[in-house]
Amino acid sequence: MLQTKTLIFGGGLTGLSTAYHLEKLAKTRPELGNWLLIERDNQLGGLTRTEIIRGYHFDHTGHWLHLRHPEMKAFVNDVMGDDMMQVARKSRIWSHGVLTHFPFQQNLHGLPLDVVHECLMGAVEAAIDEAKAPMDAANFKDFCLKRFGKGITDRFMVPYNTKLWGCEPEEITADWCSRFLPRPNISQIAAGALGIVDDQAGYNAHFTYPRKGGIEAFASRIAGYLPADKVKLSTTPVSIHFGNRQVTLSSGEVVQYEHLVTSIPLPELLKLATDLPDNVRNANSQLRCTSLRYLNYGIKRANVLDDIQWLYVPENKYPFYRIGSFSNAVASLAPENSSSLYVEVANNMSPTDDEVKASVREFLREHKWLGDDAEVEVEEVRHIKYGYVIFDANYFSAKETILPYLFEQNVHSLGRYGAWVYASMEDALMDGYAFARGL
Ligand SMILES: Cc1cc2nc3c(=O)[nH]c(=O)nc-3n(C[C@H](O)[C@H](O)[C@H](O)COP(=O)(O)OP(=O)(O)OC[C@H]3O[C@@H](n4cnc5c(N)ncnc54)[C@H](O)[C@@H]3O)c2cc1C
Repeated sequence: MLQTKTLIFGGGLTGLSTAYHLEKLAKTRPELGNWLLIERDNQLGGLTRTEIIRGYHFDHTGHWLHLRHPEMKAFVNDVMGDDMMQVARKSRIWSHGVLTHFPFQQNLHGLPLDVVHECLMGAVEAAIDEAKAPMDAANFKDFCLKRFGKGITDRFMVPYNTKLWGCEPEEITADWCSRFLPRPNISQIAAGALGIVDDQAGYNAHFTYPRKGGIEAFASRIAGYLPADKVKLSTTPVSIHFGNRQVTLSSGEVVQYEHLVTSIPLPELLKLATDLPDNVRNANSQLRCTSLRYLNYGIKRANVLDDIQWLYVPENKYPFYRIGSFSNAVASLAPENSSSLYVEVANNMSPTDDEVKASVREFLREHKWLGDDAEVEVEEVRHIKYGYVIFDANYFSAKETILPYLFEQNVHSLGRYGAWVYASMEDALMDGYAFARGL
C-alpha cells in the first residue's frame, strides 16, 4: 500500500497548481512535499493542451488567460517570465448582418436602426422598472428581460445563450453570470448605441498568453517543476472508500491518503465511491452539464477573421455560437500566410458534423475569409464531454448536499469540474494555490 499526505486526482491546471505550490512550500515545510498526482491521460495539462496538425496549433478551443489576482499574476510570472505576452482583446459579434463590438448590450451602434431603437427602448424601460423595485429573476431569460429589456434579450441573449448552453434560457438560472456577463448601466448602453466604444468593458479586455507553443506551453512549464516520481500518468482511480481514505488505482495499487484533492468531474468522482450515502448519490444524479463539439480549421490564407480573435455568432442560421482565431492572437500558431481557427457548437444541437462543416465554410465565404475549398488544410471535429456546468433549478440544492459531505471526508473537490462551477484557468490555479496554502 502506498501512503501519501495529499493525493491529487487530475493533472490539469488545478492539479498542477496544487502540486506546484505544495512542492514550493515543502522547502520550509518538508511534509507538504509528500503528495502523489494521478492522471488518466499520458500527458499533463488537461484542457490546457495544444494539438499541432500540419504546423497549425489548436488549443481545446480558445484558452485565453485573464488574470485578476496579484498572487496568480506573480505565479504566472514566476513560471513563464518573458515567455508570456499581453494581448488586447479584439472580439466582435456577427448579428443582423453586421459586425459589432463586444459586448452586444453595450455596442448597439451599427445594427439596423429598428433593432437599435427596440433594444434601447427595452433597456430604458428595464432600467426604470429596476429603479422602482429590486430585481428578482426566476431564470436566466427573466434576468435578461429585467436587466437589459426585451430588445437585447430577444435579439442577442436568448439566441446566443440557447446555442451556448444547448437548452432554453428558461431552464437555467442567472447564477453563472455574475462575473462573466458585462452589465452596463443605461448610460453606458446609450453611449454604445451612439457609437462610443468602451474597449475595457467586461472581464476579458486583455489576456495573457504564451509567446510560443499555445496554452500548453504554460501547463508544460508548471509540469516541469514536478518530480516525475510523484506523478502517475495513464492511471485512474477505480474505487474510493472515503471513510477509510483509501483509493484503489487502475494499476492495482492501493493508496492511503490524508487529504484528497480532486479536479476530475464531480459526477465521475462520486460514482467511484463505495461508501456514498444515498442522499449524496441522489444529489449526484441531479448534476447536469453540456458537452461540446468543436472544430479545428487550418486555412491557407492570412488573417481569416481579419484581426479578430473571437467572434460571437447568435444568428440561428448558423449552428455554431463562436468562432475564433489562434493565429490572430499569436501569428506563430499557424504556418506563414495561414490561419488556425476554432469553431464551437453545443453537442446536443442536432446538425451532423458534415452540416456544421458546410455551414462554417458558407459563413467564411460570405465574409470573403475563404475562397477555394483547397485553402482548407485542416478541418477536424473534436469533443469535450464536460463543457459547461448547467445552473438549473437543482444546482444549488445538489451541491449543498454533496460538497459539505466531501469536505467532512477531507476531500477537496476543486477546479471547474471538481467544484462543478463556471470557472476560468485562473480560478483553477487559485484553487490549487489556496489549498496548498491552507494546508
Ligand atoms: C471550451 C472551453 C473554453 C475555455 N476557455 C477558457 C478561456 O478562454 N480562459 C479561461 O481562463 N478558461 C477557459 N476555460 C476554462 C478552463 O479550461 C478551466 O477552468 C481549466 O482548464 C480547468 O482546469 P482543471 O484542472 O480544473 O480541469 P481539467 O483541465 O479538465 O483537468 C482535469 C484533469 O483530470 C483528468 N481526469 C479526468 N478524469 C480522470 C480520472 N478518472 N482519473 C484521473 N484523471 C482524470 C483529465 O485528464 C484532466 O487532465 C474554457 C473551458 C472550456 C471547456
